[in-house]
Amino acid sequence: MNITEVKTELLDVTLESYQLKLMAGTSGNASVYHKETEAMIITPSSVSYDGMTIEDLVVMKLDGTILEGKHDPSSEWKMHAQVYLDREDISCVLHTHSPFATGFAVCQEGIPVILIEMVPFLGGDVPVAAFGMPGTAELGLEALKVMRDRKGCLLANHGTLAIGTSIRRTFMSSIYLEDAAKIYHIAKNAGDVKVIPEEQIEAMRNS
Ligand code: 13P
Ligand code: ZN
Repeated sequence: MNITEVKTELLDVTLESYQLKLMAGTSGNASVYHKETEAMIITPSSVSYDGMTIEDLVVMKLDGTILEGKHDPSSEWKMHAQVYLDREDISCVLHTHSPFATGFAVCQEGIPVILIEMVPFLGGDVPVAAFGMPGTAELGLEALKVMRDRKGCLLANHGTLAIGTSIRRTFMSSIYLEDAAKIYHIAKNAGDVKVIPEEQIEAMRNS
C-alpha cells in the first residue's frame, strides 16, 4: 500500500470507530506504521472527527519529528511510537474510550474469555495495563507488558488499546473488545458468569 492508500484506510477506520461510538468527542486516536518510509501516520490531537479528511492526519517519525501535517499529532503519539519501537510485528494501533470496556478499565477488572470471538480477535482474555500518565511512552510500555500474546487490553482508568498487523483487523479487535465488555456486563448482572474452559480456548487457538 502506498502512503495515500494507508491514510485513506486509517481515516475510514477512525471515522467508523467514531460512528460506532467507540470514540466520543475527540477522544481516542489511531495510527499506522508505514515500514517502507519508516513513518507513523497518526490522527491529529483534539480535532473533531466530523468532517475529518486525510489532510488532517499527521505523518511523523517515531522520535517525534513531524514530516507532514497542519495539526499537532495525537497527544498519545509516544504511546503509539513505543508500540512500534518494541514490536516490529505490529503496524496498527487503535486507542478508544469505548464505554463498556472503559467501565471495566475504571474498575481495573479484566474480561475473561466468555465469547469465542475473543480467541481469534483478542488472543484470549483482555488484561488490564497498570495506570500510565496520559501522553507518556509509559502508557505504551505498560500496555505492552500485558499484551505479549494479546491483541487488546484495557488501560487502567482510561480506555482501550488494540494492536495488529492490518488496520481493518485492528479495528475488528477493538469492536470485539467493546462487544465482550458489553456482554460481560450484561451477563454479570443477569447471573453467574461461566468462562470458556482453558482446554477449549487452547483447542480454538490451535484450530
Ligand atoms: P488526542 O485527541 O490528543 O488524540 O487525545 C485523545 C485521547 O484519547 C487522549 O488519551
Ligand atoms: Zn485516551
